[in-house]
Amino acid sequence: MATNEGDGITRRDVLGLGLGLGAGLGGAAAGAAGAAVLGGLGLPARSSEAGESPLPQVPRRTLGRTGKTVPILLLGGMGLDKRFDPKIAEAVRFGVNYVDAADCYLGGSSEAGLAAYFERAKDRDRVWVTTKSDRHDPKGFEQTVFRSLENLRSDYVDMYYLHALDDPDRLDDDLAVTVLRLKKAGRIRHFGFSCHGGNVPELLRKAARTRWVESVMFRYSFRSRGNAVLNAAIDAAHEAGVGLIAMKTQGAEAGLRDAWKRFEKTGKWNKHQAVLKAVWEDERISGAVSQMDTFDKLRENIAAALDRTPLTSAERDALDRYARATRPFACDGCDQLCSAAAGADARIGDTLRALMYHDAYGETGRARELLATLPAARGLSSVDLSAASRACPHGVDVAGLMKRAGEVLA
Ligand code: SF4
Repeated sequence: MATNEGDGITRRDVLGLGLGLGAGLGGAAAGAAGAAVLGGLGLPARSSEAGESPLPQVPRRTLGRTGKTVPILLLGGMGLDKRFDPKIAEAVRFGVNYVDAADCYLGGSSEAGLAAYFERAKDRDRVWVTTKSDRHDPKGFEQTVFRSLENLRSDYVDMYYLHALDDPDRLDDDLAVTVLRLKKAGRIRHFGFSCHGGNVPELLRKAARTRWVESVMFRYSFRSRGNAVLNAAIDAAHEAGVGLIAMKTQGAEAGLRDAWKRFEKTGKWNKHQAVLKAVWEDERISGAVSQMDTFDKLRENIAAALDRTPLTSAERDALDRYARATRPFACDGCDQLCSAAAGADARIGDTLRALMYHDAYGETGRARELLATLPAARGLSSVDLSAASRACPHGVDVAGLMKRAGEVLA
């Protein structure tokens, strides 16, 4: 773990971020209560509600043509407790008042978990909620919106996404009519989609041409530097006023552990902080979703967001070296390349994403849930995975990793 020996926020300072949550939520986070000092910034950690200096707030950026501002650090719904999560209150205290949920996250409980939080915190109007529908047809989308509203126990959703869109033709006139009707009724305030497959650039360009698409959340990380096709598509969407949210910012890899250890002593940030800072350096990106399943991760990421110091050239070099060294372990989800070579709809990208959840995030349950929906779970004995390995432009060992996915997630 890197520490800061300079004049910014140290890891020790990070761990000392103030936590007055117990008072705010009736002791819900008693173990987190306290009045520590954000040492590196020399700011008090108590809130203005307690009559003392206000807490530092994470910077905000405008989310495209929505005209609304969002914090650069966004709370990923997959990292929250599905019953009630006091981390939300702590995040909100530092201005991280955006939660990214979905109808399917946490086994379908992420929205209900948010409702439980709002019930106690009474701050629904202070928190931006994005949630998503796995159904992309107009009727299914509308049904999912109303189910989300019930789950959230809310009259509205701030942003509603089509989840993991891969077919740009889904953004048709029928869906536009449904979206505009839901917006007019005040049920959804903004609309967009998320995407992380191999056709992200195509989908971004489609969003740039589709006026009623206000935001796109897409796979984007330090690995994206130098990707001319992706960056041109980001430019087009950004210039058209599409609000851009980054996800999968860790550039996480499957089948590889501890690779960062060789790099983590470079600079003052740990890997999780450094990769977020790399994304925030791109002003086209309004915010980055991070799954922060512990208070420590939340505090570290808030500290990274509060510190406006850019990455040093040595830190950027370390990230670039890390990106190169781990490239064969990071799958971009461009299934059309390797699955086609395998001669089957093997869903290789999704299977390796499940393995990544297991290997990089330690989320075995989530990984198994995803894998259970994929062919890998049922065996791929008739598929030529060696051909898939040869077809991957990034040198991913498809055969080896698919085998590993089957073994560790069985
Ligand atoms: S294994 Fe390679 S070709 Fe296949 S989805 Fe992943 S990055 Fe794309």
